[in-house]
Amino acid sequence: MSITGRVAVVMAMLGTIASVGPHAVPPTQTSPYGWPGGARMALSLSFDDGRASQVTQGLPVFARHGAKVTLFVVPSAVERDVNGWKQAVAAGHEIGNHSLTHSCSGNFAFSRARALEDHTLDRMRQELADANRQIIALLGVTPRTFAYPCGQTFVGRGKETRSYVPLVAEQFLAGRGWLDESANDPAFVDLAQTMGVEMDGKDFTQIRPLIDDAGTRGAWLVLAGHEIGRDGRQTTRVAMLDELLTYAKAPANGIWLATVAEAAEEIVRRRRTAP
Ligand SMILES: [Zn+2]
Repeated sequence: MSITGRVAVVMAMLGTIASVGPHAVPPTQTSPYGWPGGARMALSLSFDDGRASQVTQGLPVFARHGAKVTLFVVPSAVERDVNGWKQAVAAGHEIGNHSLTHSCSGNFAFSRARALEDHTLDRMRQELADANRQIIALLGVTPRTFAYPCGQTFVGRGKETRSYVPLVAEQFLAGRGWLDESANDPAFVDLAQTMGVEMDGKDFTQIRPLIDDAGTRGAWLVLAGHEIGRDGRQTTRVAMLDELLTYAKAPANGIWLATVAEAAEEIVRRRRTAP
């Protein structure tokens, strides 16, 4: 369906909701889901690849706001600065798994030699487990969440293509995507395909509408980035993070700032205890 067609369908749906009349629920400041502390929404900040700037530039930013984030690492990146990554663990940040070899489609030149098109499920299962073992050995923590490299969830080609989402569901509490376009509905989300929205290269004025949208529907917004710095390619801006974290920490804004594992755990807990 074309974008225009989709917009028309959404508008029609909104029209249906609006026409419910006196019984329609007005927008309120309370969450339709009821996040911890009465928050309207949950927000997770996540960063991929174990880029050095997450330690050197990111940790001080998170510390001055008292914020905990999720850092999805590949073991080889941690090996380059084990002490730095141990500081991240000591500061209470979550360490997630971002695979062993960061395999993506071979259409990315960097991934041609380990292309997902040439992978098998058995090899992927082994690599996910190996990455966890190496992270445990390096940092003494067991990753409980995963971020799909390049947001891609398949192995193989054509009719032989298989999804590796089930492997992630077996081994992890949650698996996060990349370049997704929505926050997650906690009542519906498949945690193995949690959507992750890009925060690289954005100002807070571009992030704010995502938060407002998540707030009105009680959603869980998972932001995803790479480098942390002033500006640049695949870089989450420090100025944006300062504004975002100030906003997120202000109690009046009703945001539960949680790591990916904390938010996923809350969703699992609620599902288990739901009537
Ligand atoms: Zn990555």
